[in-house]
Amino acid sequence: MYSSIPAEAGLLSGDNGCYGSYGGSFIPEILVPAFEEITACFEAVKHDEAFWQAYCSLLADYSGRPTPLTYADRLTEHFGRARIYVKREDLNHTGAHKLNNALGQAMLAKRMGKTRLIAETGAGQHGVATATVAAKLGLSATIYMGREDMERQYANVFWMRRLGADVVPVDYGSRTLKDAINEALRDWVSSFETTHYVLGTASGAHPFPAIVAFFQSIIGIEAKEQVLGVAGRLPDRVYACVGGGSNAIGVFQAFLPHDEVRLIGVEAGGQGKRSGRHAARIAYGEGKPGVAQGYRTLFLQDGDGQMLDTYSIAAGLDYVGVSPILADLAERKRVEFEAATDDEVIEALELVMKTEGLIPALESTHAFAGAFKQIADSSKSDVIVINMSGRGDKDIFNVAEGLRDEGWTAFIQRKSGQYGG
Ligand SMILES: *Cc1c(COP(=O)(O)O)cnc(C)c1O
Repeated sequence: MYSSIPAEAGLLSGDNGCYGSYGGSFIPEILVPAFEEITACFEAVKHDEAFWQAYCSLLADYSGRPTPLTYADRLTEHFGRARIYVKREDLNHTGAHKLNNALGQAMLAKRMGKTRLIAETGAGQHGVATATVAAKLGLSATIYMGREDMERQYANVFWMRRLGADVVPVDYGSRTLKDAINEALRDWVSSFETTHYVLGTASGAHPFPAIVAFFQSIIGIEAKEQVLGVAGRLPDRVYACVGGGSNAIGVFQAFLPHDEVRLIGVEAGGQGKRSGRHAARIAYGEGKPGVAQGYRTLFLQDGDGQMLDTYSIAAGLDYVGVSPILADLAERKRVEFEAATDDEVIEALELVMKTEGLIPALESTHAFAGAFKQIADSSKSDVIVINMSGRGDKDIFNVAEGLRDEGWTAFIQRKSGQYGG
């Protein structure tokens, strides 16, 4: 049924792991064998029809793919401009595109004979996806998470542990994602013979950006076929939110060879450019080239090369670097960048909920907000695709706070009262 690997899937392997002046692999000597083993395995997998077929059929039977492309007729009518289609990655098992990558990498791990997965997680979504696929494929899992992030995202900690994973708090530095990455790498140095490191986004040292782009390409491959089917032509613009960059690359990839399709990545504008509280590395023009975390990309850093603190209402977009693939595509002006502020995101979320009955994740709502900001420049015959990377019911605490929902606040007070809080 899925016998041939679409050409688009291998498109972003990079030239020796370099994407223009970005990417590469800056890793400690001791990890070179681990990276060589993965690179060799990935090179073989990229051309292995049986592997692709097994991947697609597990996605179909376990995760519910292909995900639909929904025509947002009421939203389309609301603006009276472009026809809006929504790619429904929220309908994946565990509620986001992250499962595509975790599942693909767990299959790579098994092919390499590994019995254990490790992963870093910030908001916990990638940790939950990794714990889920570890359970499904019979692997053990250790998830590193900053203590601070564990406090903020306790529901995900609960689920990871219940799914059988060992969640290890990281208690140094800022106790967030970057410290969790360091700790996962430290583990890997002494465990790579039995253990695969499942990186969560299209960043990090080569070959991880290429691997993640390969597995996430399924999004755009489906979306292109679907939009051709329902609209009869390619879209004029495709929007996706950008944290590390995996859902954006996933959906953009299939459209890259078609120059007439504009591709727009939407970053976290947070409290706005001047506030300094954001994670817009490219859209605000503030990311500077540098090498960190094993690769070269645009990082938000100060004059001395110290990484800056980032902020977003959407935990999944709160990242200091960005995929080297996107940094290069931005430099070559093939992908455009826009930022959406927290306020714009909350407003877009309310509109999407009430007109379409969809609840996008706060991350994904950035893609909607970016599209809405540009909708005035559209004509009625335009076709746009918005990638809805995940579902938003996980964001109930943040959204209820953002909307100042009194019923919810009273509920939380009653609940904490029950526990003597
Ligand atoms: C993690 C996450 C993102 C951000 O990650 P990318 O690698 O940039 O895709 C976006 N949307 C959702 C729903 C997420 O969980």
